[in-house]
Amino acid sequence: MKHDKLDCHIHILPPARIGGLVRWIKKSFPGHPSREDTTPEEILEDLRDCGVGTVFNLVFPLKEEETESLNEFNREFAASHEGIVPFGSLHIETPGKDEVVERCITELGLAGIKLHPYAQGFEVFSPAFEPVFRKLNELKRPFIVHTGFDIFYGKTQDLEYLGGILDRYPDMPVVLVHSLFPRFELALSLLERYGSLYLDMTNVIACIKYYLDDPGFWASQAGFEDVAGSLDYFYRLLDGFSDRIMFGTDHPAGMGSPRTIYYDFASFDFSEEISVNLLGGTARRFLELHCGY
Ligand SMILES: [Zn+2]
Repeated sequence: MKHDKLDCHIHILPPARIGGLVRWIKKSFPGHPSREDTTPEEILEDLRDCGVGTVFNLVFPLKEEETESLNEFNREFAASHEGIVPFGSLHIETPGKDEVVERCITELGLAGIKLHPYAQGFEVFSPAFEPVFRKLNELKRPFIVHTGFDIFYGKTQDLEYLGGILDRYPDMPVVLVHSLFPRFELALSLLERYGSLYLDMTNVIACIKYYLDDPGFWASQAGFEDVAGSLDYFYRLLDGFSDRIMFGTDHPAGMGSPRTIYYDFASFDFSEEISVNLLGGTARRFLELHCGY
């Protein structure tokens, strides 16, 4: 099998955290195929079986005390395995955030910073994270951030503040994970306006597929109320900006097994250009342009 896919969104963590992540996803999806005791090697194997050769591995500390050990875990995991692009992270309570970012990039060799404010329990589009944005802008390294699925998480984000961040830090590439689901009209207007902004369609593709398979049912489901009005923008994003859109599985906490996720992707029968870009082309250019790969 060719291993030419790049999965821009997976979570290989220390064993206790993998267990916690899988328990969490099973609460929402009781039949989810991942096991709490799944190992990093099994996670990689599942992806390799689908033709994935490279992954962005995303860690996120749930409390400040695990920040440093998680960043070091990701550095070591990448050093001892093929095809791992490690990203660093931190917590709102992390002191000296600019120094932590600098250490992640220059000492640990991590590609950029990823934050998951809904899981980590803080607002990221806020003054507390200005030192992170300033340092990433100075180093011209990317900031990957969870956005969207507000109703699923029962949370919201200050998207006006996000606009200010994009204005103030033009040298910091930003990836909006989950593409603000389902606010695709806003995602489109932001892509049109900011040249170094990217989207990650992880979990979005499956949600759109679910909706299209049974709109009558899904239109009434929490979080899907606005999907009908956003569909046109979903296709406009893909048709016009696939060179700035990536895709990943969120394995081991995605919308099913990697096999199911790539099957759902293939069911759209996207154009060659869209498929090539989302399944790795965009992420590979992103690594070369913004991460020194
Ligand atoms: Zn994720």
